[in-house]
Amino acid sequence: MPELPEVETYRRFLDEVILHQPISAVEVFDRHVLAVDEDALRRRLVGQIVVATRRLGKNCFLEFADGSALVLHFGMTGDVGAYRHDYDVPRFTRVAFHLADGLRVAFIDPRKFGRIRLTDSLEQYQKDKKLGPDALGISLEELSQVLRKKKTLIKPLLLDQSITAGLGNWIVDEVLYQAKIHPERRANTLTDAEFSSLYAAIQSVLKTAITQEATYRQFPANFLIHAREWDESATPGTDQHRFCPRHQKEEIAKKYVGGRATYYCQICQPEPSESI
Ligand SMILES: [Zn+2]
Repeated sequence: MPELPEVETYRRFLDEVILHQPISAVEVFDRHVLAVDEDALRRRLVGQIVVATRRLGKNCFLEFADGSALVLHFGMTGDVGAYRHDYDVPRFTRVAFHLADGLRVAFIDPRKFGRIRLTDSLEQYQKDKKLGPDALGISLEELSQVLRKKKTLIKPLLLDQSITAGLGNWIVDEVLYQAKIHPERRANTLTDAEFSSLYAAIQSVLKTAITQEATYRQFPANFLIHAREWDESATPGTDQHRFCPRHQKEEIAKKYVGGRATYYCQICQPEPSESI
């Protein structure tokens, strides 16, 4: 599923290819991904120029001079691409934006859970969708101020897009592991030092993932992500990936927290002692 790091990678790609060229046509291969009337979309886009790309959480914005924007949400399997000729159209392209210089930008989505929308402004979209500040843009003070008032479990709070936008399931597990905080700690029991570690871990996990362009097997060996069942490639031929990178004989534990599969180390991230 495209998470913040993938979406940031897509945004950078779009920033390279789509800016400052008038959109000459909008080709719709499959309307399923449109959360806006097809004709309205075409009327709005044709002749327009994207002047900036922005990202908020898992949403990518192609912004026009008046501040309005096309919003791309990538669902489960969304991706972007570029091509020039009909015979090169990427498989599963659902919508293509043709640019005046001949390049075509593809919104690709095999499973079609992605959505394309229009909004009057990024700020309006953020309000409509009740999204908090972006996880890479939020400050330590903003984050800790909201969290320290909450008596609920830290993991579901970090997944809550109205608190901060862009943290998905594996990212939250990684952040809590790096910060040595058990996923079932109640947020109001975190110390100032733990909030600082949590904040630093959010920044470093996201920045690492973006630098590696979200190619998980290239993530550092001290990342918990290698224990997830879908990534065994970091240690081919061994079961080393199933153990804590800090405690090499301690198998990474798995349980469900707030209904989500959760990986953690029982030594690094001690069980909360307070009564529940
Ligand atoms: Zn450990």
